[in-house]
Amino acid sequence: MSKQGSPHPMMDVPDAIRMVLEVTAKTLIEKDIPPHEHEAVDTVSSNSPVSDLLDRILADDVLMSEPGYPPYRASIMDGYAIQSQQLNNNNNNNEWTHQVLGRVHAGPAAIKTTETETAEGLPSAVYVTTGARIPDTYDCVVPIEEIEESPDKLQIRITTEKASIEAGKWIRDVGCDIPAGSVVLPRAACIHPVSLGLLLQSGQASFKFVQPLRVGVLSTGNELLVSSETWANGNSGELIQTGQIPDVNKPILLSLLESFSKNCKPIDLGMERDDDIESMTSTIRNALETCDIIVTTGGISMGETDIVEDVLVKRLGGTLHFGRLNMKPGKPTTFVTIPTSGNNKRTCLVFALPGNPVSATVCAQLVVRPAVNMLLQYRSEGVPSSVEQMTQNTFVPPEIVATLTYNLKLDTERPEYHRVVLNSSTTLESHGKGLQVTAASTGVQRSSRLMSLRDAQGLLCLPQGTKEKPEAHAGEQYPVLLLDDRHQPIRLRDSLHLARKAPKKTRVAITQVSQDPTKYALRSENEITEQVQRALSGSKSGTVEVVSCQRFSILPNDLDVVIKGGHDVDIWVVACSGSFTYSLDISTGLRKRVGKIADAVALQVRRGASAQDGTAALFEPVVGYLQSENASQGGCILVALPTLGLEAGLGNVRGLLKHALNVARGKPHNHHH
Ligand code: AMP
Ligand code: MG
Repeated sequence: MSKQGSPHPMMDVPDAIRMVLEVTAKTLIEKDIPPHEHEAVDTVSSNSPVSDLLDRILADDVLMSEPGYPPYRASIMDGYAIQSQQLNNNNNNNEWTHQVLGRVHAGPAAIKTTETETAEGLPSAVYVTTGARIPDTYDCVVPIEEIEESPDKLQIRITTEKASIEAGKWIRDVGCDIPAGSVVLPRAACIHPVSLGLLLQSGQASFKFVQPLRVGVLSTGNELLVSSETWANGNSGELIQTGQIPDVNKPILLSLLESFSKNCKPIDLGMERDDDIESMTSTIRNALETCDIIVTTGGISMGETDIVEDVLVKRLGGTLHFGRLNMKPGKPTTFVTIPTSGNNKRTCLVFALPGNPVSATVCAQLVVRPAVNMLLQYRSEGVPSSVEQMTQNTFVPPEIVATLTYNLKLDTERPEYHRVVLNSSTTLESHGKGLQVTAASTGVQRSSRLMSLRDAQGLLCLPQGTKEKPEAHAGEQYPVLLLDDRHQPIRLRDSLHLARKAPKKTRVAITQVSQDPTKYALRSENEITEQVQRALSGSKSGTVEVVSCQRFSILPNDLDVVIKGGHDVDIWVVACSGSFTYSLDISTGLRKRVGKIADAVALQVRRGASAQDGTAALFEPVVGYLQSENASQGGCILVALPTLGLEAGLGNVRGLLKHALNVARGKPHNHHH
């Protein structure tokens, strides 16, 4: 093997993460699990220990069983249960109003009464405690505070107004907290302490949980000590002679994966030498049958002993999706999918991470974790059909923006995920604007130096250094990916770091206004569209999209008709043709209707236009900001200029217009009428 340089293109990290998720989503869609059905479900009995229920993910809705909760009519007060219709005595005189038939405490103490009238001729009552089951014959409870009892507690007198006593008072009806048949917990819910309580109230005998994700972890390399050897001071001398080191990647990754989710179950696949391709192949082949994901470390760079890629691709028939990342640390990170051969055909995701412990750990966080998140999320939620939708909704590390407090040399080869500690402080300038977070390096960033990760709270995303910009400067802000588990993850669609850098098209509307189309010819739609596209983007098929093209023959007084149309665009070009006075009136009219007039830009328009056509110098171009009627839409930059000289006039301010738009939209909008 003597390949010079890697055959794999270098992929940017955001693209790589998106690719991992898209491939993962496709494997889920291919499997085509019917909704509400799971290949991997555990059924757990409701009287299992709490630890068997907590943190698990429901594979199905949990419904409230009959008759609902509470399962019987329960008293809300300590007091007496009575029949509300039977309260006919005047309770202002001192006579007893009810005869007490018995006492019911919360708990299994059923009292069966059918009598509503006692031998004494008084209506009956039963003493009840909070939570006691109300005997069927009664329909309300009178709290003890509103009752006078005889010394032997066999008679009572209700002391409150009759009006305050009504059917249903102080009774929780059957199913009033949770009606029978309602969804107590939806599928995909994770069981937290409160949902544990709800599970038990549901009255179901057992629950269906999604099986944990199985992630195998394999270390490779001849230098790694096998578990029977220890690397203590006593024998280190001998081991130094033999060039051996402890395997730290496997323990780090096993525990890191476990920390990702209680539903991620790491599996120790042991260690493989890098001079025994047969053994490594068979270990990974076996692991394919039991793992959803396999993570290997070491043996994936360009050295003679780096055999992992050959094992995965040539021996095991895997598809390589990327083999190099444009990042530091972690360049050799490789992503392969391998179809399994067993009767349960699946696709196994394999991440071959570099051997240096910092690279392996950072790439597990950055690249493996989102795939774990996606598999867990859609195993339980069921799989929507769109790869894009699944990718956008997957959880990724949370981000903040931090300020550097000192200059930091940028890596000249690749963008760097620089390990940092964070500090929050309220400075005088930031007062009232919330906390300002500052980032400080953890020191030498060499990928073997695990100490650089010890106290790291995040990865500062630094661009590659260039001749022009070799350093990141104190005061500059960069995104930080948070590694700390206490922060809520965010969805990919909300990530600044992973945002697709698709060139945004500038949306443009064109309106031609003419004093008299018979005298001042209007341009055809195609002609003027092409002119505007060339002027604003330098080519016909550039970054400019003309979304509407209208023509009006109007008087300056009717300008409102033109403006009213509403322009949900970035730039609105008004091309004007007519006499000198007509043009001047149009300019004046437009000036009154737009805000944030940019006369300096207008002057540039005029210079360009009159260079193309001398008569254009007579026109007063207008450049300003037009707030859209729908305030949430923002507004557009209006450019009014003569049709003669249009292309050169617009072309002269190509860059300025987009800048003006950003400035105008970034600030509160004012109207100057
Ligand atoms: P490799 O990716 O195999 O070229 O390894 C890069 C560096 O990481 C080498 O210095 C290895 O000795 C070291 N390394 C590889 N695997 C491990 C491991 N499991 N634990 C600690 N160091 C490792
Ligand atoms: Mg190696």
